[in-house]
Amino acid sequence: MAEFNPADNIQDLQYFGEFGGVNPSITDSSTYTFLKAGKMEEIFEHEIEGCYLYSRHWNPTNKYLSQAIAKLEGTESASVTGSGMAAITCSILQICNAGDEIVSSRTIYGGTYAFFKNFLPKYNINTKFVDTTNLEHVKKAITSKTKIIYCETISNPMLEVSDIVALSKIAKEKGIKLVVDNTFSPLIFSPAQLGADVVVHSMTKFINGMSDCVSGAICGSKEFIDSLYDVHSGACMLLGPVLDSLRSANILKNLRTLHIRMKQHSTNAMYITKKLLDDGYKITYPGLEKHPQHQLMKQMMNAEFGFGGLFVINMGDSQKANRLMEAMQNSNIGYLAVSLGSYKTLFSAPGGSTSSEIPEEERKSMGLTDGLVRVSIGLDNNIERTYQLMSQCLKKLSS
Ligand code: PLP
Repeated sequence: MAEFNPADNIQDLQYFGEFGGVNPSITDSSTYTFLKAGKMEEIFEHEIEGCYLYSRHWNPTNKYLSQAIAKLEGTESASVTGSGMAAITCSILQICNAGDEIVSSRTIYGGTYAFFKNFLPKYNINTKFVDTTNLEHVKKAITSKTKIIYCETISNPMLEVSDIVALSKIAKEKGIKLVVDNTFSPLIFSPAQLGADVVVHSMTKFINGMSDCVSGAICGSKEFIDSLYDVHSGACMLLGPVLDSLRSANILKNLRTLHIRMKQHSTNAMYITKKLLDDGYKITYPGLEKHPQHQLMKQMMNAEFGFGGLFVINMGDSQKANRLMEAMQNSNIGYLAVSLGSYKTLFSAPGGSTSSEIPEEERKSMGLTDGLVRVSIGLDNNIERTYQLMSQCLKKLSS
């Protein structure tokens, strides 16, 4: 059997536009005509597939991008959404009913944490947050009410690497679903190939890569994706987080260069983290030997795409972290901004921003302090030059 290669899978996709264009035509319609009135009734009775009704349901442009994302993750099917949060919330709400429980990694994106901790209890869905790198903790937290184990492949912002193979084994033994957010590591990890049931993405980040739009994706079995679009009970159909087709068409084009971008992000991050580590700074990056899950990552990753574009510098306190970020922005290294996966370097201090939804006690226990600076390295052509600039910023702070 040919080895699974997500980049080749995307490469092999060939779509023709309406007039033979090399890019598919963009749907400019919110609704679709029917030649026979009876056909419309059949759609509402779930009797027809592959027919377009209304763009919140499905539209051709989103279908193209969804197919490409299914190829990226090697899943039977996929769907695209108007944000990463929509992909997460719709997936969870589709799987869970009132009274169910979720066992989630404690180090996840702050918005997801807040959804689990503050929003879902309104519907009597409760979450236990655990250190998912400790498999015994995961097993202990599962009860007869648990429906989902949830984690990020490389977690935001602690950059912990999840043992997807082991977590999927636990999920299968318990008859529950493993839902994985692969936002930080498209191409690098293929969680569905390692046993995950559902893979979600914030395409806002690396997949689109241009910092120009917000979008998400859900990958899974055909049965699961179809259930999300059921006109009577589907979370995507009824909550309505549809991605606009103009954006969708752009993301599909940007996806074509994802393999080149991921390699460059990873090469740059590896180069700069090694240098900064040698200089004595406190660096977290899964590509470094000293990272606690470095070996684990090597066993699971698609090696040619590297260890990803994110690393963390621990500056000790928030004042130093802020001064570093301002200095880096003033040196044109990148932007002091949330988000990640852009062509240009982005940095922020997650303790006071994207992870501030996580209670202070919890942040402390996982080492998420206010002195951490999360850096999403850009596609810089001359990374030695970037290192020199960053090094000057760091040296100024300690002088
Ligand atoms: N998942 C991760 C790991 C994220 O970092 C983010 C946003 O930062 C999201 C999901 C949410 O995605 P979006 O902002 O596209 O809704």
